[in-house]
Amino acid sequence: MHAVDHINLAVNHGFAQVGIPIIIGDGIKGNDYIEEKINKKHFSSCYLASVLKDIDCLIVLSHLTGHMLTGFGAAIKNLGMGCASRRGKLLQHCLVSPEINKDKCTGCGLCAENCPVDAIEARAGKYFILEDKCIGCAQCVSVCPYKAVKIVWSQEYDMLSEKMVEYAYAVTKERKCFFVNFCLYITKECDCMNKERSGFISDLGVLFSADPVSIDKASLDLVIERQGYDALGQIHPKTNYLASLQYAQTIGLGSLEYKLVEI
Ligand code: SF4
Ligand code: SF4
Repeated sequence: MHAVDHINLAVNHGFAQVGIPIIIGDGIKGNDYIEEKINKKHFSSCYLASVLKDIDCLIVLSHLTGHMLTGFGAAIKNLGMGCASRRGKLLQHCLVSPEINKDKCTGCGLCAENCPVDAIEARAGKYFILEDKCIGCAQCVSVCPYKAVKIVWSQEYDMLSEKMVEYAYAVTKERKCFFVNFCLYITKECDCMNKERSGFISDLGVLFSADPVSIDKASLDLVIERQGYDALGQIHPKTNYLASLQYAQTIGLGSLEYKLVEI
């Protein structure tokens, strides 16, 4: 999927009507990134969308939803996944390198030509990825014209959440950020799902904060308080969003403490 596909999808979802320019931050093919050093448990460096090099202040508008891998999506997910380059997204999602589906592979060799570390080799007219050489840049995923290179999704829910938290930390490290969480029309799955869904719990309001951890914790607490149970946690029982918020506090992304001021 390239920037043009992303923009078309955004237009189809009605974003053009809002009158805000749609910019895909990691280039036409998703290969443009900047490296931010963080030296944390999972990553020593994060690969963020290159557009961030020109941005020193972010206003992060997020829609609170459930999420099948991270339990919920809001400010932290918008930062960590939303601001990652294609390579950064792949490194968060995967424990291993991508795989080539040999039934779909035509042997055109485009992936091997574009691999920056020569991790793809030809064998009997098909191409294969050498796991020990692959750096997970996802270049091969984006260049294959036959969609033969597929990402091997990790099922390590907690690890994915912690990696996402580290990316969020990388984004905020050098930038001032302000967060707005729309806790309205809350859906079971995240907004990237390509189907229309309806809200499944009542609207809670719009939250504002300068702290991504506080605002996400407050949003999730509001769900529990208004619904009388942990509606998002129960939909995705394999996930543990509280652990990821605690990890976010541990690495200095923000604080679990907050004070709600109604206006
Ligand atoms: S670009 Fe796709 S079709 Fe071409 S060799 Fe690589 S995997 Fe096969
Ligand atoms: S992910 Fe990057 S490094 Fe790995 S095989 Fe594909 S192009 Fe090469």
